[in-house]
Amino acid sequence: MNASFPAAPELIEWHASKLEPLLDRFEKDRALHTTLLFTGVEGVGKKSLALHFIHLLFCDRSIFAAAEEPVDSLFGGPLEEKPGARAACGECGSCIRASRGQWLDLIWIDPETDEEGKRLGTHKIKAFRELKEKLGLGPAEEPFRVVVIADADRMNQESANSILKVLEEPPKNWLFILTASDSSRLLPTILSRCMEIKFSPLDPDRIFSILKRDLTGEFPSRRAKVASRAAMGSISRAKNCLEEETWELRDRLIGLLSNPASEWMGLIDAVSTSQIRMNLALDLMETIFMDLLSHRIKGDQHLWIHEDQREPLIEIADRLGWDTAKLLSTLEGIAGRRKHTGLTLNAKLLAQEILAPWMERT
Ligand SMILES: [Zn+2]
Repeated sequence: MNASFPAAPELIEWHASKLEPLLDRFEKDRALHTTLLFTGVEGVGKKSLALHFIHLLFCDRSIFAAAEEPVDSLFGGPLEEKPGARAACGECGSCIRASRGQWLDLIWIDPETDEEGKRLGTHKIKAFRELKEKLGLGPAEEPFRVVVIADADRMNQESANSILKVLEEPPKNWLFILTASDSSRLLPTILSRCMEIKFSPLDPDRIFSILKRDLTGEFPSRRAKVASRAAMGSISRAKNCLEEETWELRDRLIGLLSNPASEWMGLIDAVSTSQIRMNLALDLMETIFMDLLSHRIKGDQHLWIHEDQREPLIEIADRLGWDTAKLLSTLEGIAGRRKHTGLTLNAKLLAQEILAPWMERT
């Protein structure tokens, strides 16, 4: 389970308005959609928010516990006027269990990762078969039994079909929360069962303060500033950006723009080592081109992502002399290449393809 609990206060505050409608609806109708889909860019906090919501769902004093009878899917039991809280109390039996990491009625399903960590994993059918064996059981302690399918956009066809049958006829008092960065990769039949909650990218200031609190040791303020701007609203991206390896790759990418011939082969080797590296290179290329584009549009009067590389980037922009249209189409091209990093093609060819915009000269 790759989710922080409790979630950072900045994260809860930023996304609170997205969860409010669920609480409003429950307060009004005593009803909750049985399949929720949390979407938003990778690292926006979907899994932490799922756990935050489940905490509230399980709390003995929250609005969800206030109903005398647990609710039955879309249609509520008898209306009960007992008011409940819209935040977990932190003191009841359920909240204490949560603080100890004991989630009695939570089943959390992550995609499998490959042995070498080179490719992002997919959901294997085994986990869903095991889930199906439990479907006859009701919640043990809490008002709901909750199943989280993390990164549901990484289900293969077989897993997706298997879970679809469950979602079509969910057991009484079971609730499903799916998280996905790319909901277009879900089967339309699954999407149609879901109530989607879209989480917006976080702003750089919020990411900066989360980094500041989460990081132990000496805080690398200059890097954190660049990382929180380069993160595109994602905490995990920001944390990746702080890694030494990422800084090195970034500097080499900027170096390649300054001096294409010298770095080309070395960079292909560096990028082709894993799917994760390829995605990282694409992330970095995107942010470097965003700086070049902002510079083209606004001159020097914009907030540089790679503020520490301002001078070399201005030089590169002047030398390339690309207009806005050319820069925009390059950015689109980089985004389009993301689709290919998951494919099992020759890694070096793929890296070459990924780095191609760097070699273009017009
Ligand atoms: Zn509580």
